[in-house]
Amino acid sequence: MNPNRDCKSPSLQPLRFFRVFRLSVRVHPDQQFVFPFTPEMIVRLPITVLAALLACSAVPLLFAAKPASPGEWTKTNLPQLIELYRHFHQNPELPLKEEKTAARIAQELELLEIKVTTRVGGYGVVGVLENGPGKVVLLRSDMDALPVVEQTGLPYASKVRVEDARGATVGVMHACGHDLHMANLIGVARYLVSARVAWSGTVVFVFQPAEELGAGAAAMIADGLFGRFPRPHYAVALHDSADSPTGQIGYLAGFAMANVDSVDITIKGRGGHGASPESTIDPVVIAARLVLDLQTIVSREIKPIHPAVVTVGSIHGGTKHNIISDECRLQLTLRSLSPEVRQQLQDAVRRKALAAAASAGAPEPTIEISEGTPALFNDPHLTNRLAGMLKKRLGEKCVVEGEPVMGGEDFGRFGSTGVPTCMLRLGAVGQKRLDEFAARKVPPHSLHSPLYFPDAEEALATGIPTLVACVTELLPPGNSD
Ligand SMILES: [Zn+2]
Ligand SMILES: [Zn+2]
Repeated sequence: MNPNRDCKSPSLQPLRFFRVFRLSVRVHPDQQFVFPFTPEMIVRLPITVLAALLACSAVPLLFAAKPASPGEWTKTNLPQLIELYRHFHQNPELPLKEEKTAARIAQELELLEIKVTTRVGGYGVVGVLENGPGKVVLLRSDMDALPVVEQTGLPYASKVRVEDARGATVGVMHACGHDLHMANLIGVARYLVSARVAWSGTVVFVFQPAEELGAGAAAMIADGLFGRFPRPHYAVALHDSADSPTGQIGYLAGFAMANVDSVDITIKGRGGHGASPESTIDPVVIAARLVLDLQTIVSREIKPIHPAVVTVGSIHGGTKHNIISDECRLQLTLRSLSPEVRQQLQDAVRRKALAAAASAGAPEPTIEISEGTPALFNDPHLTNRLAGMLKKRLGEKCVVEGEPVMGGEDFGRFGSTGVPTCMLRLGAVGQKRLDEFAARKVPPHSLHSPLYFPDAEEALATGIPTLVACVTELLPPGNSD
């Protein structure tokens, strides 16, 4: 990427000046030396010389004011950024526990003299960088890690172990790349501070906790993110992609990630001896029938062109071979893109659970639907504008349109408040490693896998210039709207 290629070289300006000056002392065409100055010119000569000297002394300033391109800057500063990335990688913290991570982020932003506010919606950190008139752009990174025992074998692998809510020891790992997002956004902050002439407006850096719980964005908004800080005209984020190559950026206008809802169903029966089913109502049989019936929602009730998923991820009932239990519990995840399909799924699950119990003469089951993350909707105008700009900078082949996935991402919550949002995908695995997976005929390790790791150097080399380019596109210098 070379965002400099359209810029005029500052070295052209002094050359033009010297050419003009030489004309004023040229030799007469008849080859005989003629004193070239009139008395009036002699009076003006010291002024001309003074102007020339001033212009010469301004030349170094012209060079000094020209910031390095984001690509060159990232290349030069990569060692420090990788050190920061590895620090985050080796010190992961679970959702809602991001205390030390947030402290380090705040410290990094304060070093840049960015206005920092901590403890926004839990451990959220907000940095406000004002740089003259213009619009406001929010850039977001998440901060939390996952309860995963890292198995990458990397020299800087996480060895962190903590106790979970139930007292069990669990490993902690940045298996979703949020460490990469943090290092990337700190890199962007460092660059924007060093290159203030390249943009004008305000950037709000949001480091969000508890993304993996789908809770952090909502908590920050509830804590006044859009009231206590400049309200953004646009919000942009990057998320790493485990199956696209470094150097590549993915985009998708419209619905990009799913509505995520969790459902807890408790089927109630009448317990008894396993040898006397006639005196019981068996909740395990009702649950088994319900699991199969639930599969017909997507296959028979939802329009085939509308994406939807119903998964029963957990089913628990009974304690022993010969006891019919009182109840059986199911846990489901529902995924959809549109609000209409989301409602349709919820209604159908309720109806089928009630019907399954009724058909066995069992008491009414309890059905609890906890609304999780809303779908991530990438504002089409903003997304296409950024994608078009990035295609020009990175090259058409490096900016590719993706397809929706049914995973969840609470960055969508910023969009639900009316702020146009765009999340771009950052290719994070080197082509060589992707080719190795392909040669072995296995898919690359997915996000959340204990074996997943990004090629951080290469990913940052694209990620930082990409976000910087989004800022300079949306907050161009000299723009005071
Ligand atoms: Zn994740
Ligand atoms: Zn993630």
